[in-house]
Amino acid sequence: MKVFGVTGWKNNGKTGLMERLIAHFTAQGLRVSTLKHTHHGVDLEQPGTDTHRHRVAGAKEVVLVSSSRIATLHELRNDPEPQLAALIEGLEPCDLVLVEGFKSAPHPKIEAHRAATGEALLATTNDTIRAVASDEALPDLNLPVFNLDDTQAIATFIAETTGLAPRKSNGLKNDCFALPPGVHWTPVDEALETLKSRLAPVVGTEAIPTAQSRGRILATDHMAARSNPPGANSAVDGYAFAYADLPKGDVITLPLVAERAAAGDPFTGNVPKGHAIRILTGALLPQGVDTVVLQEDVQVEGAQLRFPAGVKPGANARAAGEDVAAGKLALPMGHKMRAPDVALLSALGLARAQVFNRLRVGVLSTGDELTEPGSTLDTARTYDANRPMLLSLVQGWGYDPVDLGHVADNRDALRRAFDDAANQADVILTSGGASAGDEDHVSALLEETGSLHHWRIAIKPGRPLALAQWNGTPVFGLPGNPVAALVTTLIFARPAFSVLAGGPWLSPMAFTLPAAFKKSKKAGRREYLRARVNEDGQVDVFKSEGSGRISGLSWATGLVELPDEAMDITPGTPVRFLPYEGFGIT
Ligand code: AMP
Ligand code: MG
Repeated sequence: MKVFGVTGWKNNGKTGLMERLIAHFTAQGLRVSTLKHTHHGVDLEQPGTDTHRHRVAGAKEVVLVSSSRIATLHELRNDPEPQLAALIEGLEPCDLVLVEGFKSAPHPKIEAHRAATGEALLATTNDTIRAVASDEALPDLNLPVFNLDDTQAIATFIAETTGLAPRKSNGLKNDCFALPPGVHWTPVDEALETLKSRLAPVVGTEAIPTAQSRGRILATDHMAARSNPPGANSAVDGYAFAYADLPKGDVITLPLVAERAAAGDPFTGNVPKGHAIRILTGALLPQGVDTVVLQEDVQVEGAQLRFPAGVKPGANARAAGEDVAAGKLALPMGHKMRAPDVALLSALGLARAQVFNRLRVGVLSTGDELTEPGSTLDTARTYDANRPMLLSLVQGWGYDPVDLGHVADNRDALRRAFDDAANQADVILTSGGASAGDEDHVSALLEETGSLHHWRIAIKPGRPLALAQWNGTPVFGLPGNPVAALVTTLIFARPAFSVLAGGPWLSPMAFTLPAAFKKSKKAGRREYLRARVNEDGQVDVFKSEGSGRISGLSWATGLVELPDEAMDITPGTPVRFLPYEGFGIT
């Protein structure tokens, strides 16, 4: 973590400079934390607020928590004020700590200076001050002097002084969304191939308890720490003996040893040659035996065991490691953990799993007409349906949904929203304004990044998608229409996100089923129809293909996928049905 300070007399523009620097560095994708020194009596709260009341009543530490932030108020009372270094150590890892105040601490600083305050410069007496940011020309100080408003130059100086490197790129090339040139309408498969070949994981990794790993993606190959089963054991309740020592004859009689072997309570002695031992399911096979006869197939008279010949050598015995041997691959990198996988890693002694951090997917709605569901009766307004739909999908896929809210069609507001989004999310999903028209503000803004590609894909429903990177964060700009937004998310965003999250490329689950409908499909575009399987196992499609019909999305239990080519469908024609479940929609 690099540390740099802003200092200066009161009203000389310290906080404004801090604010601009924070915005500048975070926009570069850096994680910035701040520390500010202030006068001793400062209060964050109004008297009478709950935490104030806790504090005044004598609490030593008061923690205020919501789903967005945590504030800890630690009352020093008679304890000494902590040193800056100790405070920095208490911060979460970040790229840069910007410190406001603390002028006597040894870290390098810039002094903010305004002519109007008439204060003498601190820099003349404080040699930890490495530069001055001033709104007036200054006599030679033997220090760099910047214009107070020249954030870019000041930030460059800070980066050079501290050795702050631009954040490691996420590995995606700037032109990763470029489609093959010269094609007017790109076929779906070609667009998918582009995503598949250009994307890579953009998330870090962490170790977590295996028991909590459901839905997470393994970040390394996981090898068995121990064999399953760990030792040879019995598959049934019965009697164990050495096959090779069995006497000849149609009926076999063996003397029984007095002890028994049970699961978790093994017989540690040796079973003498020609003897048998009572054994229960899961018990380790004692020394000297290799075969088990079922208890239902024997007679026991006193210490004598009798059973008909014909038991196979090694019957009802499980060999050590016959399921998975120690050191062998249990589950590969990229595997998404499900309940049975949790069982497997647990059985193999892997109490912790190394997984990718959850992909944070930011969801943003855009459009002047949008408003919160139920907030108005104005028929000129459209309730925002995409954002809750997309957030639900993302959550169902096991990612971290980040609700970025709704932004009007305003360039500056959108820019702020994207800056914010790039800080909070690993990938951004927007809906609305993605085409290339006058009101397509998302598209126009992304154009500035130089990484925008309009994807005109031969797909119905679906208008052009806008794919780009904002401050290095991939953006999937979906059409606003909810039917098109859902279809394009399922077909393009879902497999892409899986790869960004460290998982495999995903193809939809598909079944070929007879159609229950008639349709004459023209050549050129791949079509997705809202569909459901009827009681006869045939596929019905929604009564209207109108792309504004959200009710059809909800009526459906999946999609029918019609090929790029022309197709005449009559009842009974086999069609491809992609169930919602296969897309992780439940
Ligand atoms: P656009 O892609 O911005 O041209 O929007 C196409 C259509 O989708 C317009 O009728 C929008 O009102 C509608 N739309 C855009 N975003 C949403 C949303 N979040 N929820 C519901 N409808 C939307
Ligand atoms: Mg719009």
